[in-house]
Amino acid sequence: MLSDKRTYLATASSVVVEGRRIGRVCIMRDVTHFKELDSLKSEFVATVSHDLRSPLTLMRGYATMLDTVGELNEQQQGYVKKIISGVENMSRLVNNLLDLGRIEIGVGLQVEHVTVLDIIERVTSAVQLQAAQKNIALNVELPKDMPHAVEADQALLHQALYNLVENAVKYTPENGRVFIRTISQPDYLIFAIEDSGIGITPEDIPHLFEKFYRGKQREARSQPGSGLGLAIVHSIAESHRGRVWVESAIGKGSTFYLQIPLTQPKEFKSISS
Ligand code: ADP
Repeated sequence: MLSDKRTYLATASSVVVEGRRIGRVCIMRDVTHFKELDSLKSEFVATVSHDLRSPLTLMRGYATMLDTVGELNEQQQGYVKKIISGVENMSRLVNNLLDLGRIEIGVGLQVEHVTVLDIIERVTSAVQLQAAQKNIALNVELPKDMPHAVEADQALLHQALYNLVENAVKYTPENGRVFIRTISQPDYLIFAIEDSGIGITPEDIPHLFEKFYRGKQREARSQPGSGLGLAIVHSIAESHRGRVWVESAIGKGSTFYLQIPLTQPKEFKSISS
């Protein structure tokens, strides 16, 4: 963005004539309008999702209370179950949208010392049940030289890791394996989540971290989801000045890497300590 408050997309390339470079061309495209549209869209989504929360809570509440005011027959109980599961899916979507909006505007990054072992344990115990139901072994392998803690927003880092581990379990068939590892680098810690699952096609990989993108494979589509989980991980990685990427082979499995700096800039830290 320049001082006139307009946003440009700049690209530069060399001009080569008969093998000799005779200069460079820089093209600047004014994308202000698209930026404005993007922020309007985010604002709209945040408002709508916020307003959807109360009616959803109400619907869930009354649906669960139905059998306390009179006996329900088996068919009615089945219908109530379907209503509750539909409402729960919608609530998850709405919460994801709200989280994403909050992370994107960058409010509330509460930086503190997050103990790496603790956060991994919390994530694994949260997905343990789902893994056990599919007989998937969750293995944690941590190197001896792993740093004790990283500076991060505890809740956000937990959510990013949770989304990655939950996906690993979700997209791995029964009796598979999931490994959670860390890789130490001088200024970063990398969390590597490896699964023996369905894998991701090369066509899907460039789009995975986009909002609402879902893989095109049939096995992936058969799982419930909104396509927001990885977009949230991407936003969380960026808000910590980190990165997320994936390596995958169809039918063999995938490894997602989340790289987080060990320390955060001073202006981030003033919020908590
Ligand atoms: P959702 O799981 O709700 O579809 P995500 O944003 O979490 O949304 O993931 C986007 C897509 O990436 C999924 O639809 C799936 O195709 C693919 N994906 C994510 N994680 C994995 C994984 N561990 N193995 C295979 N495919 C994956």
